[in-house]
This record gives sequence, C-alpha cells and structure tokens, in this order.
Amino acid sequence: MPAYLIISLSILIAAAALVCAVFLIVRGHSDDLARAESDLASLALTLQERTDAVFRSIENVLRDIVGKIPQASLKADEFEAFAGSKATKSLLAEAAQSLPQIIRINLINTRGRVAGSSIPGPISNSVYLRDTSYYRALSTDPSLLLYLSEPIKIEATGKRVLSLARKINDADGNFLGIIAATIDQHSLEKIYLDHLRTHSMAITLYRRDGIILAHSPADAKALGRKVWLPNTPLQRMIAKNTPTLIRDVSWLDARERLIALHPLANYPSGIAVSRTVAELMAGRRFEARVVRFMAFFIDVMIDAASLLGIKQVRTGLLRAASESYLSRHDMLTKLPNRQFFVDELKRTFQASQKSSSNFALHLLDLAKFKDINDNHGHAAGDEIVKAVARRLRERLRKSDFISRIGGDEFAIIQRPIKGQQQAVDLVRAVQAALKVPCTVANTEIEVGISIGVALSSPSIKTSNEIMRSADIALYEAKSDPDNAYRLYDASMKDSRAERRELEGALKSALDSKEFELFYQPILDLATNQIWGCEALVRWKHPTKGMVSPQNFIPAAEDSGLIGPLGDWVLEEACSTAMTWTLPLKVAVNLSPVQFKRRDVFASVTKALNASGLPAHRLVLELTESVKLTEEATATLKQLKALGVSISLDDFGTGYASMSYLRSFPFDKIKIDQSFVRGMLGSADSSAIIKATISLANDLKMSTTAEGVETEEQLNALRLAGATQAQGYLIAKPMPREAFAAFMTETQGSYKASENVHPLA
Ligand code: C2E
Ligand code: CA
Ligand code: CA
Repeated sequence: MPAYLIISLSILIAAAALVCAVFLIVRGHSDDLARAESDLASLALTLQERTDAVFRSIENVLRDIVGKIPQASLKADEFEAFAGSKATKSLLAEAAQSLPQIIRINLINTRGRVAGSSIPGPISNSVYLRDTSYYRALSTDPSLLLYLSEPIKIEATGKRVLSLARKINDADGNFLGIIAATIDQHSLEKIYLDHLRTHSMAITLYRRDGIILAHSPADAKALGRKVWLPNTPLQRMIAKNTPTLIRDVSWLDARERLIALHPLANYPSGIAVSRTVAELMAGRRFEARVVRFMAFFIDVMIDAASLLGIKQVRTGLLRAASESYLSRHDMLTKLPNRQFFVDELKRTFQASQKSSSNFALHLLDLAKFKDINDNHGHAAGDEIVKAVARRLRERLRKSDFISRIGGDEFAIIQRPIKGQQQAVDLVRAVQAALKVPCTVANTEIEVGISIGVALSSPSIKTSNEIMRSADIALYEAKSDPDNAYRLYDASMKDSRAERRELEGALKSALDSKEFELFYQPILDLATNQIWGCEALVRWKHPTKGMVSPQNFIPAAEDSGLIGPLGDWVLEEACSTAMTWTLPLKVAVNLSPVQFKRRDVFASVTKALNASGLPAHRLVLELTESVKLTEEATATLKQLKALGVSISLDDFGTGYASMSYLRSFPFDKIKIDQSFVRGMLGSADSSAIIKATISLANDLKMSTTAEGVETEEQLNALRLAGATQAQGYLIAKPMPREAFAAFMTETQGSYKASENVHPLA
C-alpha cells in the first residue's frame, strides 16, 4: 500500500475518533450539578444546626451562672464583691470546664474591668476589657443583650478565640456588668474540618455583618476579615437571612463558586459551604483533555502527511473542519446554532422512529430580554446569554442536545426519555437553575424564562411537526407569566394561527360593514333621568354571530385596524346621537393604540364636524393603559378646550390609579364593575368605592359606577354619593333602534318598581 494512502487512512480514522469524542462531550453534563447543589445545601443546614447547638450550650452555661447570682448582689457594689469572691471563682471554673469549647469565663463590671474570672489565681486590678467589641456594644446599646464577637489572637498562647458575651442587669434593669465566655475557635473549625469532602470545598462561619468567625480549611488571613463587600450579590443574599444558593466569584480564591448559605437559627451569623464550579465540572475537563489529545494526534498525522507532500490533505481537512465548525456553532455561547439544531432534530426524530424510543423537545425563550439589553446594555445582554447557556448545559445529560437558535432562544433535545415526567423534571431543573439571578458587572439581573415542550409520539409524523408543537406550547407559555411552561397536547390550539385568521377577517369586516354600535344607558342618580349612554362596538361575524369587543379589540390593536375602526366608532356614535330627540351625551371608548398611532384630535373634530354634534355632548373614555405622554396630554387638553369631556375608565384596576389621576384633570371617574360587584359582600370594595367618590368630589370630578345589576347596589351607590350608574339593572347595551325605543318608553326616566327594561 502506498504511504500516502496509509497516512490518509490513519488521519481518517483519527478524525472519526475525534468526532466520536466530541460527540460524547458537547452534550452537557448529567444531573451532577443538581446533586451537588442539594448536597451543599444540606451540609450547610447540618453545620448550621451543629454550630447553633454549640452556641446555645455556651449561652446556657452563662445563663446558669447569672441565675446563681444572689438577688442582693444585683447591685453595683455587691456585684463587684460577689464577682471577686473565691466561691464565684470556683463556680466560674467549674462552668468553664463543663464544655470543651470554653477557654474561660469572665465577669466584667460596668467600667470594663475584669471583676471575676474562671482562671486560677488572683486577678490584677488593672485588667480592663474596655476595648473589646462586646464591651463597647453591650455597654452602649441598651437593647442589646447578647454579643458574638469577631475572632482575636491571644498573643501569649497564639490561640484564636471568639467571645460570646451576655449583659447582666441589676434588679431595676440597669447595666450591671457582662459575663463573657471565651471560645476556642479551633473547636468550631474542627467540626467543619470533619465535613470537608472535596479539595475545593470551603466552610465558613460568618457573622451577619460579613466578618469571618471561623473557616475551614484553616486560613489565617481570612479570620476576622470582612469579606462581603457592600452591595454585592453575596452581601445582599446574606442580608436576606434565608437559606439560599448563590454562584459568585469568591473572595477565597477569586474563582467562581457555588455557595450554599444557611443562617444560624438563634445567632446573628451563618454558615457558607462552597465548592468551585471548576471542580464540579471536573469530569468534563477530563473529556476535554481527551479531545485535545485526539486533535493533537490528528495534527501530527497531518504534519506527517504534509511532509510526504500531501498538502491537500492538510489544508483541505483543516479548512473543512473550521468552516463546518463556524457554520454550525454560535460564537457567543459556543453552542450549536439553529442550522445544526435543525439537522440534529431531524436525526433524532428518525432515530426515535427506528428505535421507537422517545424524546422531548424544549424551546426556551428568555423573558423581557429586550428590556435587559435596553436597561443594562448589549454587553450585559451577551453576558446573560452566556450565563444562561452555561447553566442550561450543566443541567443536561450527556445524551441531550442543546443549541442557541435565536438571540434569546434556546432549544434542548432531551433524549431518550421514559415518559412525560422526565421532561417535566428537566423543566423544573431549568427553572431552578435560572432562579438564582445572574450577576453581570456587579449587578444582579433576574432572568425569566418561558418554556414550551413537545414529546415525540406516534401521531407526530415529521420533525417539523414536533417543532411546531413545541412552538405552539411556547407561545402559550409566554402568554402566562406565572406558570411559564407548557406541555403541548393535541387539544392545544395554535393561537397564533387563530389570531392571524382573526386579523384577516377583521380587515374585511370594516369594508363589509360587519361592525355595529350598541348603546348602554347611563342614569343620573340625582335626577333619576337618563343622562346619556356609552357606545360599545360589536362585530356581527357572518358565521360566528355577535363577537364581543374583548375578543377582537386586542387583535384590532395589534393589526393597526383600531385606527380606522376607532374613527368609524366616533363617526357612527356622533351621528347616531344627532338622531335622538333628547340632547343626551354619548361616551366613546378610545384605545391606547389610537393615541399612539393616530391623530386623535383630528379624528374627533372630523366626527363632530361631519355629524354636527356639539362637542359638549361627546365624552371620551380612556383607561390607565393610555400613556399620558406630553403629546397625549396636549391632545386631551385641546379636546377639553373644544368642550369634549374626558372620563377615566375602569378606575382602580390599574397599577397607579392615584398618580394617573394627578396627571390630567379628568371630568369623570368610572368606578370599575369589579368593585360594584363586591360592594355589598366585601368591606374592601365598599371602602374603595366610598374613597373614590370622596376623592372625585374633592377633585371636582363626577363618578359613574359601572356594572350595576341589583337594586341593592343602586341604593348603596346612591347613599355613597355616586353621580351616575350604568349596568344591566338599568339596561343592557342595545342596538340603536332598541335604544331609541327604550328612551320613548321610559320617557328618559328610571323607576325601580316599574322598570320596563330591567334586562332588556
Ligand atoms: P368598558 O368600557 O368597561 O365597557 C363596559 C362593559 O361592561 C361592556 O362590555 C358592557 O356590556 C359591560 N356591562 C355593562 N353593564 C354591565 C353589568 O351590569 N354587568 C356586567 N357583567 N357587564 C356589564 P362590552 O360591551 O363587552 O365591552 C367590553 C370592553 O371592550 C369595554 O369595556 C371597552 O373596554 C371595550 N370596547 C367596547 N367598545 C369599544 C370601542 O368602540 N372602542 C374601544 N377602543 N374599546 C371598546
Ligand atoms: Ca368604557
Ligand atoms: Ca369600564
């Protein structure tokens, strides 16, 4: 066999081996990380309990001693005598010996002098502990009873100690002195040392303010140091004082660590247990080394080949390799890209059909990613994408496949799976992975994620179909921020297709005159006369019948149809109002999109001019979703100047109803039906109604209560002082002819008992 053939063959074999090795690795890690997280958290809990118990037993010893001080000695001079007595010394010595962690116990007087001690021999008169942090804290802060001090090194013995100090008060509650136990810090570190399981693991006992009290493995420079800088994620997590997991670059070794924090139950401190992320990922590093070795091997072979003059082998192979890598990967995250994913999905689909094994397709979409880019910049956005990619990858098994298929979109092929539960478990793991905020340039950014999942099944015939199913599920998930994942099932409608169909039908509806206005009377409560009505749009769909505005206004807003539709509503309402015998008012609803996209002032004046309706008979209703920009406010002011009234609709249902009221002088507040519905049963609703009415009175605005369905509600509203009422009790919305007939029959007045149109 010629040499070049042998070498080419070897290169091919090596390349194949490399491909296999890469195949083994690219596909993420198993559930190791999840296991590591829960191990760390449970270790932090265990050590928290152990440490808390140690402190508690020491505190009990101190308490026992205080309990033994005779009442008479609970006065300044007697206390000194008591503290200095032989009997007390033996009491203290005995107590100090009762626990191995206690080195000594001191009694300290109000001036900071050691008045009694467990250590043998007499105490010199001049030992003052005024400079200790516990003396300073307990002698100055009247509300403080217990103090856990930072560690110090005793020069004489070289021992590191902490103090747990308790305040002693006299019979009248005045500061009498302090009892302090000196604790051997090593006794605490020994507990932690026994629990160090891997070489990167570190266990820290920290005080709430960030000072390190004990640390294993022993690290002299750590002790007493204040490590959590203010305003860092770690410091904020500690301030929350709840058990938590965090990933952060550690003060210990400037490496990224997974840290489980658990506060002590009874003392202002906590336990942090951490491991480096690198160690957690070590298994993969080994795999990576194998790949590197294989690549090196291939390189050597290629060199050999080129020495033999087979240049094309080298250049061809390398160029092909790099081009294929670049075209199939996303450079930011190094994950496979959409093209790679599509191919892989096809392959997975075919394989699953052959082997009748199942897989799940997860499509993931970061919530509000645009906001992150807008608020924190694109560099931060990139960092977030990378962090998310890393966290996702860590949650996967080796056999799974992950890719970045769009700016903020990822796809995971989970394969194989035994059943639906396994897919749900992965969703939960992904959600948990993103629960911890991402830290970018020292800012914590919360990342939300929507997930749509589709499972392979005999009814799905192509890989495109499973993609579409997952996409439909994702779309559903996105519309529900609370439960941000959906599992596709055949009954799930493709709301996007429905929406497109609806928008299409809407476009022709205006030309085909399928819209109609209904009118709902509004009653003036002072005069009991009909004051006017609200025009409400209806869609007489040729096949679906009467469609409610709630079902098509949003689509009209999205498709832009709201502009011409809104104009039509205005013109129709104004010209209808001109046909009434009484000069009733007519209220028209305006959508926020009309304000954004349309010259509302021009539309209104056009409708008024065309119909001849005096401006003072037109009322415009807008909700808080209309952004009161300078431009919108100017338009509203212009309209008001014309004589048109402006009502604030659905009051109380938005986020900032109060501040909204301040931004424009509305003529009227419409109290939302939800409050009226609840007013007789719930004290809250009734209070809100009363408060709204009195607020409106103060602001010289009138009020219309919406959704009035019973006489009881009407009476209660009258009593509360509402100006007007609207609702099924007075009449339902009705076509223009029916409204004219209603006005003739009732003569424009409302009488409860003879009401002819209670539910017209
Ligand atoms: P809205 O402005 O709050 O209108 C009041 C809604 O409450 C109407 O629903 C009305 O039929 C209903 N309603 C009135 N009295 C009662 C009652 O006693 N009990 C109950 N349960 N409901 C009552 P509708 O007609 O389905 O309109 C729904 C929403 O669609 C309106 O809420 C409004 O936001 C919007 N809308 C209606 N017409 C138009 C329009 O021409 N343009 C725009 N932009 N939006 C419109
Ligand atoms: Ca309204
Ligand atoms: Ca309303």
